Amino acid sequence: MADPRASSAFPTGAGAGPSTGRTPAPPTGPAGQQTATVLVVEDEPAIATAIAQRLSAEGWRVEVARDGLSGVDAANRLRPDLIVLDVMLPGIDGLEVTRRIQAEQPVPILMLTARDDETDMLIGLGVGADDYMTKPFSMRELVARIKALLRRVDRAAQAASAAPSDPPLVVGDVTVDKAQRRVYRAGEEVHLTPTEFELLVMLASSPKTVLTRERLLAEVWDWADASGTRTVDSHIKALRRKLGADLIRTVHGVGYAFEPPVG
Ligand code: CA
Repeated sequence: MADPRASSAFPTGAGAGPSTGRTPAPPTGPAGQQTATVLVVEDEPAIATAIAQRLSAEGWRVEVARDGLSGVDAANRLRPDLIVLDVMLPGIDGLEVTRRIQAEQPVPILMLTARDDETDMLIGLGVGADDYMTKPFSMRELVARIKALLRRVDRAAQAASAAPSDPPLVVGDVTVDKAQRRVYRAGEEVHLTPTEFELLVMLASSPKTVLTRERLLAEVWDWADASGTRTVDSHIKALRRKLGADLIRTVHGVGYAFEPPVG
């Protein structure tokens, strides 16, 4: 319905100085928190403006798109370091936006949902966002989540460049190529989000070892508190959906263990 050129993704004038302007995302350099480009896809003007102002104040370069199609268009044009994506959008919704964007390039997505059970539903569908926040949320928490997500991606990139010739991790019929950030099961490539990839690396690095939800949350998500253990459960669900249900064992009340079937 919406022509992506007509319904524009526009640079916000919310922040002062260099955070405004239609500057392409720098292709080089780490996704440092002060230089990162964040695309906000949100149709409610008040929320979009509030988010853009706060993120600009953090020093990030921010652009806002007001509907799904212009969000996809802006993502392809800007190559942002992170996308804050509302799920309920005019035109194509956040699920379809995520599919289209992730088909072009892996980019961390923080999805805004209306209810907790909607978040569970989306993760169950394997939509491919890296984190979820339920409205209403505090701007402080949004910033904290974005920082954690950018750190995670940055760390992953550094790990990959620091050990480009690391031999792939092979456990059972699962191969995790950390340098290329690719995952195969029985020779078939499986596409994971950055967060799913890090979670899998953590689990596969210690096969047959129970890792607690709290530890996974701290190491993969960079969260100091344990309030988000349900996030871990949800992402385990996504991994099982993509890689097969038989790889990861649930240890009830404790955590998870990577145990691919033998033979
Ligand atoms: Ca909306």
